[in-house]
Amino acid sequence: MADSNTGKFIKVRCPDCSNEQVVFKNPAMNVTCNVCGSTLIKSKGGAGELRGELVEVVD
Ligand SMILES: [Zn+2]
Repeated sequence: MADSNTGKFIKVRCPDCSNEQVVFKNPAMNVTCNVCGSTLIKSKGGAGELRGELVEVVD
């Protein structure tokens, strides 16, 4: 656990359906929208690649 960033969870807005969802910032797998299934974060091994719109950082 060498993550020096603050906040492990972020709220993102789905680019396709505008659903807002709190997700893990560094996911082991791709994170998909609960509503439409669109990819919100691509797993990159470290920090995920954000696909949706960041709404806020949640601690
Ligand atoms: Zn969606």
